[in-house]
Formats: sequence, structure tokens, C-alpha cells
Amino acid sequence: MAFKLPDLPYGQEDLAPAMSEKTISFHYGKHHQAYVNNLNNLIEDTSFKDASLEKIVMEAEGSIFNNAAQVWNHTFFFESLTPGGGGEPEDDLSRAIEREFGSFGKFRDEFSKAGATLFGSGWVWLVKNDSGKLDIIQEGNAGNPLRKGLTPLLTLDVWEHAYYLDYQNKRPDYISAFWEIVDWKKVSSRY
Ligand code: MN
Repeated sequence: MAFKLPDLPYGQEDLAPAMSEKTISFHYGKHHQAYVNNLNNLIEDTSFKDASLEKIVMEAEGSIFNNAAQVWNHTFFFESLTPGGGGEPEDDLSRAIEREFGSFGKFRDEFSKAGATLFGSGWVWLVKNDSGKLDIIQEGNAGNPLRKGLTPLLTLDVWEHAYYLDYQNKRPDYISAFWEIVDWKKVSSRY
């Protein structure tokens, strides 16, 4: 049973101007699709052939892990975005963010800084641990917090392919625009 590229919950043009149709068409249509295709080819004659994506992310190493985690991370990333998003979380997650970081603004600054200072390719994550405590972590390349027993709530892709068409080398501008399209309802539902 081969993995498939999941549908986006919005049109490819709907996140503009924060994220252009052209960027989505490459990032989702080419990069995300390529990870799905690579994964299907790599697992064909292995014990992961009929495994769930989560099981592969948790147990695989090398190129199988890299492609499986990139499929998982991109699906999670694209599902964290929505046209007309932004603002702030509500309810329990809002209180947890204030408790952990002092204020939503301080959280946003810390998360943005983690994205801007991650050297090379990778992902920034807002995660929750077993006792409900929040943290911001950086993961290089295909890194995924599930491997550390953490619950991912929000992620930001800082690979150059995520922003180069729209923002060229200006990663901080991409990160600023990201906050305008975060789907806090979705993120809160994961808390
Ligand atoms: Mn990406």
C-alpha cells in the first residue's frame, strides 16, 4: 500500500501573499511529492513495506527515515496553515504559552529567533512533553520530535526551498509572514 501526497486543506493560491502559489506549487507539488515517491521506492523490499508512516518515522534510519520524516513534517506543516490565519491561540494553549514564555509576543519572538538561527536546513517546533510543558526546539534536516517522545504542536520549515522563491535569502521576512497564516485553531486542537 503506497503512501500518497495528502490533499492541501486550501487552494495553492490561497496563502498569498505570505506564501505564493508558485512557492506552494514547488514546495508541495514537487518537494513534498518527491519525498512521498522516494519513500515508496525505498520501502518496497523492506520490513517497512506495510508499516504506518509514524512507525517508519519512529524506527527507520538513514534515507528511509529522512524521506518518511520529511513526508510527515511537510504534511504537519501544511496542515498548520490557513488563509486568513494568524492572530493568537485561545483557551488552554494560550494560557500554557503565557505560563511558559511570559506572553504570546515573547513566544513568537523566541520561535522566530530559533528559525532564524537554525544553521542550514531544518525545522523549528513548538512541542509539548509528557507533563504538558511547552518547549521550542530546533531539528536539523528531517528531524522529528516524535523520536524524542515529544508531542508536536506547530512547526516551521526553514529549508531554503520553503522560502527562496518568495523571499530569496531573507529568511526572517519569511518567518514574519508565517505568523499571518498560522492556523491557531488547528494548533490548539493538538494541545
Ligand atoms: Mn520543505
